[in-house]
Amino acid sequence: MKKIIFSLLALSLIVVSCQNDQIEEIHEHQEITVDMSDFYVYTDDVCTSKSSDGKHTHKCYSMTVLNRQLKENPGLENRMYNIEKHTRKAIVAKSKTDINGKKPAPDGGDDPVPYVGSITIPVIVNILEDPNHPVTQAHINSQIDILNEDFNNNNPHTGGVPAEFSDVVANLDITFVLAGVNRKASTTSSWGTNDAMKYSSQGGIDATDPSIYLNFWVCEIGGGILGYAQFPGGSLATDGVVIGSDFFGENAAGGQYGHGRTATHEVGHWLNLRHIWGDGRCRQDDFVSDTPSSDGANYGCPSYPTYNCKSNDMTMNYMDYVDDNCMYMFTSGQSDRVRALFTTGGDREGFVN
Ligand SMILES: [Zn+2]
Repeated sequence: MKKIIFSLLALSLIVVSCQNDQIEEIHEHQEITVDMSDFYVYTDDVCTSKSSDGKHTHKCYSMTVLNRQLKENPGLENRMYNIEKHTRKAIVAKSKTDINGKKPAPDGGDDPVPYVGSITIPVIVNILEDPNHPVTQAHINSQIDILNEDFNNNNPHTGGVPAEFSDVVANLDITFVLAGVNRKASTTSSWGTNDAMKYSSQGGIDATDPSIYLNFWVCEIGGGILGYAQFPGGSLATDGVVIGSDFFGENAAGGQYGHGRTATHEVGHWLNLRHIWGDGRCRQDDFVSDTPSSDGANYGCPSYPTYNCKSNDMTMNYMDYVDDNCMYMFTSGQSDRVRALFTTGGDREGFVN
């Protein structure tokens, strides 16, 4: 009720102050509202499937780390809610703008303005060196090349996208540029997932300003985990992506995960993408309208189609768990989610301003 009274008051003020400015009044009336009733942050971190070699039940540990961070940081859930709300508003606003990002009058109001054009992300690679799992400059360079392939729809396997999904394949138009490499000798053979590698006080390497750099930490994680990322909204000190040494870049030691796609998947999380199956069986979604619902992760290299939750799985999406050579697409809906972070008021706006 309080809200309605406030709205009426605001409306009367606008009518008084904008009698000669009808457009201004229309802006106020058309402010975007979005439905947030399906929003969730806590997820099941139990997987029943396994990779083909049985070693990587949890290929990616991002959701488990998120559950931990939500418990440790009471403000995080609210921040993620607000980022999600802004994302949804930005996606609605995008549908109301022309290709140059201009709003056709008289629309607008406080809508987030979509960011148009290529986005450049400077990358810092922090390496905790283990002589048994070397990370060379060639590995680093190949990882940057692979990210640039995948975020610009130049993956060599993209021809494998089935006709059913070919209309929604997206070019995110994001370029990654190597800005620096930090190396530190380490005798730790299993860093785990508690972010110790991100603090020099715990033997790791401190992040380089995560408001303008994407930080990678490359180290031995242990537990069969390939990598994990922090979602937008978390603490700046730990913002970035952790990748196991053998899975960074083109690296024969990584086997079927040695082609750099763990980083693509984890950067997807860092850019606010959820797992394609929504981490909750058929009942939870990934907040993307053009990715089919699914009941869980796919592993190996599934042959199309695999059917779950009344639709064919998009197993070739980077946000599934399949082998590196079997993932080769993002969708337009995922692109909209990612690029919403770079709109006015977006959580990663600092990268474009
Ligand atoms: Zn993941």
